[in-house]
Amino acid sequence: MRQPLVAGNWKMNGSLASVRDLLAGLKAGIGDVKVAEVAVCPPAVFIPEVQAQLDGTPIAWGGQDLSVHESGAYTGEIAGSMLTDFGCKYVIIGHSERRTYHGETDELVAEKFTAARKSGLVPLFCIGETQEERESGVTEEVVARQIDAVIKHCGVDMLGEGVIAYEPVWAIGTGLTASPEQAQDVHAFIRQRVSESSADVADKLRILYGGSMKPGNAAELLAKPDIDGGLIGGAALKAEDFLGICTAA
Ligand code: PGA
Repeated sequence: MRQPLVAGNWKMNGSLASVRDLLAGLKAGIGDVKVAEVAVCPPAVFIPEVQAQLDGTPIAWGGQDLSVHESGAYTGEIAGSMLTDFGCKYVIIGHSERRTYHGETDELVAEKFTAARKSGLVPLFCIGETQEERESGVTEEVVARQIDAVIKHCGVDMLGEGVIAYEPVWAIGTGLTASPEQAQDVHAFIRQRVSESSADVADKLRILYGGSMKPGNAAELLAKPDIDGGLIGGAALKAEDFLGICTAA
């Protein structure tokens, strides 16, 4: 009953030429993807090109970040309404790279969640522990803190209007993937945590796995009961790999 979602996070990669190639490959192969909902999140400057190419296809698109502000003197920032102006359905928020390199706190991420919803965007809300946190046995504490910040600020019903992406930081771009069992354990914990606020929201909430997901490991991860799709970095940059994951979902 939870439709799987496979979303590509292109991060800061690509050129206009490579984006056109990738989009052509995605359009050519998307007809074989029967079950999963599919989305791509390009760097912001490529969004108009993505919209031009993907409009009318089953592939949705989104931003990688947004401002908490609606407009004004915020140099370099992009408002949610600007993303929706270009047809975005989704926006990634709280990615670990934003948390690490841009100092985004749980509270700021919660504010971004609200800003996204105000603009009608569906937040792809990223959470996950570092290697050090996993080794010290505080994985559950960390993801609980990250989720609780959004529930406190937005309420559980608004959380339910988004999608959670569990991305263990140690698995992002490292080639190290959480084992299906490790991932399932945390996904089940996340659902349980949300169900303490609302069983109904928890039941319907899509929880994606992210961190070195590839065509070769996607099927066993996606077969787990609480893994409802993937947020894909490196493997989203090649149409064949990305579509391979979409087909596995
Ligand atoms: P990866 O990135 O698939 O390259 O590990 C995932 C992400 O950061 O969303």
